[in-house]
Amino acid sequence: MSKRAYNFNAGPAALPLEVLERAQAEFVNYGNTGMSIMEMSHRGPVYEAVHNEAQERLLSLLGSPSGYKVLFIQGGASTQFAMIPMNFLGQGQTANYVMSGSWADKAIKEAKLIGETHEAASSKESKYMSLPDLKDMKLSDHAAYLHLTSNETIEGTQFKEFPDTGSVPLICDMSSDILSRPFDLNQFAMVYAGAQKNLGPSGVAVVIVREDMITDSKHLPTMLRYQTYLANNSLYNTPPSFGIYMINEVLKWIEEKGGLQGVQAMNRKKAGLIYDAIDHSDGFYRGCVNAEARSDMNITFRLANEELEKQFVKESEQAGFVGLKGHRSVGGLRASVYNAVPYESAQALVEFMQQFKSNHS
Ligand SMILES: *Cc1c(COP(=O)(O)O)cnc(C)c1O
Repeated sequence: MSKRAYNFNAGPAALPLEVLERAQAEFVNYGNTGMSIMEMSHRGPVYEAVHNEAQERLLSLLGSPSGYKVLFIQGGASTQFAMIPMNFLGQGQTANYVMSGSWADKAIKEAKLIGETHEAASSKESKYMSLPDLKDMKLSDHAAYLHLTSNETIEGTQFKEFPDTGSVPLICDMSSDILSRPFDLNQFAMVYAGAQKNLGPSGVAVVIVREDMITDSKHLPTMLRYQTYLANNSLYNTPPSFGIYMINEVLKWIEEKGGLQGVQAMNRKKAGLIYDAIDHSDGFYRGCVNAEARSDMNITFRLANEELEKQFVKESEQAGFVGLKGHRSVGGLRASVYNAVPYESAQALVEFMQQFKSNHS
């Protein structure tokens, strides 16, 4: 097999090689059934065992808090942007949002289609190059919930702490940093993530929700009600079964790496290496965001001009690197170093950055 790319894609993103190889080994004949997991009924015991195992494993990695359920929903995190206000924003209530970046912006836009919204805190004035101070946050009256984006994938910022919202349910989009570090699920009424960054392939969003949040919302279309997924163990209709199988394999891999503490240590090492290279480049590379707000998952940086950035992308591609171009909305460069990106990729990137610097300065 030819060499694996140094994959810094923002999403879909790198998956652990061990997981891909295990999936390959089981691809055409899962557990001696003579079938791929993709070819099986989602109502059969073989698939259902995988489905339930993925849910149990996820809760166990999060410390098995009681009262929470795992739902698998299609439509990505973007569909959650709409389902959250549809299900949780009642008459006379206001949906509160922390405006931290491009994804928070997309989330509130959907809520505005459904009902009243309020920006409880915002760093828009800094072009989202910093994070809002949540100590200054002002919730509205009759707050239905507060929505937070733990990691802004495009700008490259990440909250290190989460606010105490008292009796107001805290809902968090963790699409780009779920399971990258330990966190206390008890602080949250719901967290959710599109799988394609830290959990598996695209095509499934994982929702972890406190059961008492979910009420019967019969006025909503069936597939847009959380109640449908809760009441039917996410098997009301055909689930994205292959994606869920892959998530279960990724969760096993996280367990093997020492759980959330283990992956956090790996992630800090990788991100630290790259941020060090940026900070010790005599200004050749410049980090985009405030140092305190830096994400361990998406590292955004710039060069002196766009010409040089283009050259960086071009030469990096020739050297076997993938995905280093910044998001089209902000430009610059971005290295996404999710859980599955190996340390060796970060090392190779740093060597490349040093070489590029000496060639071009
Ligand atoms: C990628 C991403 C999304 C969008 O996810 P989809 O599954 O493509 O809808 C939402 N929020 C964050 C923070 C993301 O990184």
